[in-house]
Amino acid sequence: MARIPLVVGNWKLQKTLSESLALVTDLKNQLASVRDVEIGVAPVATALHPVARRLEDSNIAVYGQNCHHEERGAFTGEVSASLFADAGATGVIVGHSERRTLFGETDEGVARKVRAVMAAGLRVIACVGESEAERDGGQTEARVSAQMKAILGAVEPAQVVSLVIAYEPVWAIGTGRTATPAQAQEVHAFIRAMLRDRFAAAAEGVRIQYGGSVKPDNAADLMRQPDIDGALVGGASLKADDFSAIVKAARPRT
Ligand code: PEP
Repeated sequence: MARIPLVVGNWKLQKTLSESLALVTDLKNQLASVRDVEIGVAPVATALHPVARRLEDSNIAVYGQNCHHEERGAFTGEVSASLFADAGATGVIVGHSERRTLFGETDEGVARKVRAVMAAGLRVIACVGESEAERDGGQTEARVSAQMKAILGAVEPAQVVSLVIAYEPVWAIGTGRTATPAQAQEVHAFIRAMLRDRFAAAAEGVRIQYGGSVKPDNAADLMRQPDIDGALVGGASLKADDFSAIVKAARPRT
């Protein structure tokens, strides 16, 4: 089954409103002719709506970086998936390793967020990945399997079209150390097998992004792997030239 690669820039806690608008204006110009790759950016919450307005009629979608699992209520400081939808988002990233390690998110908490994003009619980019100690201890599959089980338990078969998995080895995020294409493909194939167990043939349509120090010079080799269907990009998504080069390195899976 053909899978259209999905490349999304996660800006984290970076960029003012004017910097955000300048970046997406450059991206809009540089990427206007790209037809065979889906593209997204995840700005800070305060910039999401203006960025979405600036990207109207473009081929670049907007994503939230995280959300609360409840839709509304007394949850000071939180933003719900449905409010991200209201602001112009196409999807929400959930379970990023920074959320898990710095903010104590558990597999169960991530599953609640997956349900909330799906209920809001948005796409989920659900992140999984092992720490360096887990990899060194031979625990990569066990850790990814536990994370995947929680995510898969939150997705109904009819919702699978809205599911994207991002495999992001924690030791590769923001470190300049990238998984080799073979290391990444091995885990992507493991994730694909779990998707097949849960969703049968529909699993072939689920995009599995790689994330972890993706740069213009390693993007093509990673995305050439059979189960790597795009990238979730942190640092390199903050510069228009670098992010555009990564998007252009992606090729549709046939
Ligand atoms: C990320 O934060 O999702 C990420 C992959 O970051 P970086 O590309 O900077 O490693």
